Amino acid sequence: MYRLVPEAVARPENESDVKDLLEYAISSGTSVTFRTAGTSLSGQTVTKGIIAEVVRGWKRHEILDNGAAIQLQPGVIGGRSNLYLQPYHRRIGPDPASIDSAMIGGIISNNSSGMVCGVKHNSYHTLRHIRFILANGNCYDTSNADDYEKFLNIEKDLCTGLLLCRKEIETNSTLKNKVRRKYSIKNTLGYSLNSFIDFNHPLDIFAHLLIGAEGTLAFISSVTLNTIPDPPYKTTGLALFNDVTAAAAAIPYLSDSGAAAVELMDAGALSTAKYLDEPPYDYRKLSPDNAALLFEYQKEDLVEIDLVEKDAKNQVLGLQGNLLQGMQRHADNRNKLWKIRKGLYPSVGAMRKAGTSFITEDLCYDYRDLPEVVNEMRIIFERWRYDDAVIFGHAKDGNLHFVGSVDLNKPSGVKSFEGLINDLVDLTAGKFQGSLKAEHGTGRNMAPFVEKEWGKDLYDIMLRVKAIADPMNILNPGVILNNDNKVHLKDLKPMPLVNSIVDLCIECGFCEHVCPSRELTLTPRQRIGISRDINLMKAAGDNSWRAVAHDMRYQSLDTCATDGLCALSCPVNINTGHFTKELRDIDHGPISKMVAGWTVHHFKFVQSAVRFFNSLLHFTAKYIGKTITSGLTRGLHRLTLGKTPLWDPDMPITVPKYDLYVLGKGKPYIYFTSCVNRVFQPGDKNESLVDVMGQIAISKGIQLLIPENIDHLCCGTPYSSKGYSAASKVMAKKTIATLYDSSNQGKIPIVVDTSPCTYQLKNLLPLLGDIHIELYQQLTFIDLIPFLEDLVRNNSNPQLQRHSILHPTCSTDKMGDIESLLALSNTCVEKTTLPIDYGCCAFAGDRGLLVPELSASATQFEADELVDCDPGSFAYSSSRTCEVGMQRATGRDYESIALLVRDYLSQDEVN
Ligand SMILES: Cc1cc2nc3c(=O)[nH]c(=O)nc-3n(C[C@H](O)[C@H](O)[C@H](O)COP(=O)(O)OP(=O)(O)OC[C@H]3O[C@@H](n4cnc5c(N)ncnc54)[C@H](O)[C@@H]3O)c2cc1C
Ligand code: SF4
Ligand code: SF4
Repeated sequence: MYRLVPEAVARPENESDVKDLLEYAISSGTSVTFRTAGTSLSGQTVTKGIIAEVVRGWKRHEILDNGAAIQLQPGVIGGRSNLYLQPYHRRIGPDPASIDSAMIGGIISNNSSGMVCGVKHNSYHTLRHIRFILANGNCYDTSNADDYEKFLNIEKDLCTGLLLCRKEIETNSTLKNKVRRKYSIKNTLGYSLNSFIDFNHPLDIFAHLLIGAEGTLAFISSVTLNTIPDPPYKTTGLALFNDVTAAAAAIPYLSDSGAAAVELMDAGALSTAKYLDEPPYDYRKLSPDNAALLFEYQKEDLVEIDLVEKDAKNQVLGLQGNLLQGMQRHADNRNKLWKIRKGLYPSVGAMRKAGTSFITEDLCYDYRDLPEVVNEMRIIFERWRYDDAVIFGHAKDGNLHFVGSVDLNKPSGVKSFEGLINDLVDLTAGKFQGSLKAEHGTGRNMAPFVEKEWGKDLYDIMLRVKAIADPMNILNPGVILNNDNKVHLKDLKPMPLVNSIVDLCIECGFCEHVCPSRELTLTPRQRIGISRDINLMKAAGDNSWRAVAHDMRYQSLDTCATDGLCALSCPVNINTGHFTKELRDIDHGPISKMVAGWTVHHFKFVQSAVRFFNSLLHFTAKYIGKTITSGLTRGLHRLTLGKTPLWDPDMPITVPKYDLYVLGKGKPYIYFTSCVNRVFQPGDKNESLVDVMGQIAISKGIQLLIPENIDHLCCGTPYSSKGYSAASKVMAKKTIATLYDSSNQGKIPIVVDTSPCTYQLKNLLPLLGDIHIELYQQLTFIDLIPFLEDLVRNNSNPQLQRHSILHPTCSTDKMGDIESLLALSNTCVEKTTLPIDYGCCAFAGDRGLLVPELSASATQFEADELVDCDPGSFAYSSSRTCEVGMQRATGRDYESIALLVRDYLSQDEVN
């Protein structure tokens, strides 16, 4: 919610770069703010100095002691470290809700936590070792025994200062007790003063002060965290109570009985169930006083699960609670219950007025005070007109959050924000002696109130810690400690309106880690942020917006794969790909729109032309030379300002023409083979995917019927992804009308052999008018993957002695079919590998041919992961262009998963 424009952005990629940067900062008097995922909520990752992003080059990890610990660099995503630990049934302790985006540097530096972690498993308590670089450039590592002596000898002032602070706290029982009491609940306000009473050696004290120091004391180069068990069995319940008091009465029982998570939701939070497709209760019957506890047990065996479930049911009933839906063990049912809690950000974020800011606070109390606190909070919200505010939180830890919205573009909004914060500070630091920040860090947001919560003596110690560790004040100054008591009201980020698709963006950054252009050009958040900045510049009469807009053409428009993966991770469901398509549409001139429209009506001709040129280029590559042929297409690409594709000899051979429209005998399916599969071979054999599907149909006793005018049809993606919205609508209507007729008015299901096309066909509704909507609603589309999985599910053929490497397309991910893909492969082969770093290949139809560097950048991590993977393995996917993208990245031959199924079903012939 804060906006400061940095002087420069640096990307140091190793310790030596960081040391150089710090040296420059000291010599020039410039400050450095380290940043990983930038998802912080308290304004700790913005600066007018240098932003140093420590993501590229900082992603290494090492599992230690058979999973008992893990060494991590700051750029590793928290959720990723849990995937690395999965085979050991362990995970890291800190569990912020943002764990799938937030990175280790930020998780450690904010001392982040979440639903299960509590105070016991946070970074402070699970830290085994830390390696850091001081502002003076000296590096220390607590895993190196010699560094203890070295730290004492070289950092004399720092050590003396730390020991003096320690003595002051140790010898003053009031201060010592206060520190103990304050860390008995969650607290991330100010520095981790418990280091002074938990450790003796200055290096250990300093190492733990770094946890939650928000980059103000040193740069963290790596950490080793002790891991915690990740029990395999889980059971979840949602108990409704008359009011918060009744709900709070159940918290001690649930905590004592070993519930891993106990989440409180007030009536406002519960009523957001109205935004769910399948609400787990009737939200219309809720009273304004109702409250609920969502709780989960995680156990090592089923006997324990049986016991806790039985007990929980009786106890909740005894405490006047209504266990809606009973206890749920199955992941799908548990997820339905968690959906309401996890959907609170989207619900409030998406319902707020465009242009308003999304406010979230994070406070902690003795859990026994929760009923009174919630009532008082409601009065505060009413006073400052936060009508949409909802309250929820980690009840067993007494940690409450609220989310609401306010218009910070107006002085009245800023006043209401100021009033809200003042009242919450009085309530929390004053009346209830709680924590003003439990897990989100102090930042700029609460810096003016650190002294109020900790008192003058302990605040003075914090000031001294900062002064001795960073005497030149170059490390993230103004964060945690700030002598401006209005800093939380300054530099508030304006939210200018840009486009209704993106206006609700809260700039949280959750979308960044999935974006295939993140390493090459921009992320979705940056695309939106820069668009907002352009509007601010225009409003301020600053003509430099033109230069920025010019650069945005490549940075934003040309290099967005429009795959929409960003929407999957976005708490308010923003699809920046749709925004890009709209901008591309505006960008097209009337002639190019006319040409696009013409091609819709002459699609068969276009398809034949592509087949002809692909054959011609292969021919010239063979007889004239690959380099010359590629060079020719490169020259043409340059001449047409990037409008014609770059062709390489690794493009698949043109598929033989087929004239069969009925394949196999048995239960009928319409077979919609994509335009790409009508042009290119599915593998290295001289056959078409239609041939392969025909063999599968015969083998399984089904019938595949290809619409006779298939060559005139396509799903519309080639048009919509380029922003030709009018052309894509015409194609959509043409295709739907044909499929309606061929499928006997929708009675025969339609199988699509390319996942991105299935996704497009399943989401055509916005492109259709009334008549076609009626037809469309009768149609059933099945993607190749679930279709094949269903075909082979109960097959008794032995698994092939093969190792298959899978690349799920982004559409497979969006349709929720990754489990199905895994199941399909596991049925057919003995060993399956799904790379942890799989993601969108950004080939995006022809984008990989127009901007090949995008695909190369997007696939690098997945390719790196496969470098040492069995060279004899087979690689599969479900889109020919994605297969080409992956082939280029890995040097492996990727093929359609249908080829695997064909081989599996015809083993006698193959083996
Ligand atoms: C919707 C939403 C929900 C959230 N839920 C939670 C939650 O449940 N619990 C929670 O705790 N937080 C939550 N957060 C806040 C935030 O996501 C976490 O605090 C997260 O751990 C921050 O990680 P990051 O990688 O984004 O850090 P950043 O924001 O990039 O950085 C955080 C701080 O760490 C410093 N830093 C980063 N790397 C280094 C380094 N190598 N050395 C020194 N300093 C460094 C930065 O300077 C900054 O001060 C939420 C945020 C959002 C938007
Ligand atoms: S698009 Fe969504 S996920 Fe991305 S920054 Fe905006 S709100 Fe967050
Ligand atoms: S559509 Fe894809 S490439 Fe475009 S912003 Fe979203 S995630 Fe990034």
